[in-house]
Amino acid sequence: MSNVSVSNPTVPVRTCVGCRSRREQAALTRYVRDAAGEVRASRTDVGRGAWICADSRDCLEKAVKSRGFDRALAPRSGNKNTNLRNRLTMAK
Ligand SMILES: [Zn+2]
Repeated sequence: MSNVSVSNPTVPVRTCVGCRSRREQAALTRYVRDAAGEVRASRTDVGRGAWICADSRDCLEKAVKSRGFDRALAPRSGNKNTNLRNRLTMAK
C-alpha cells in the first residue's frame, strides 16, 4: 500500500505568502478578498488568492505583518484586469 505519492509532479504547487516556501496546494489554505473587502478562507471563490500554510499560525501572522497578504490579494489591480477584460469583450 504505497501508491500515495506526495511528490507527484502534476500536483499544483503554491507559495505561502507567510514563509515563502513552495508546498503542495493541499497543504495550504487559500484566502480571498470578497466584494466587501473581507478576507476569508475559500478555495472556490474567483479572484486573486493568497496561500498560507494550513498548519501554521505563524505563516498567517507573518503574511499579515509583512503585508504579503495585501500584496497577494491586491484588489485594485484585480479589478483593473477585470475591467480591461470586460472592455475587450465589449469592443468586439
Ligand atoms: Zn508558510
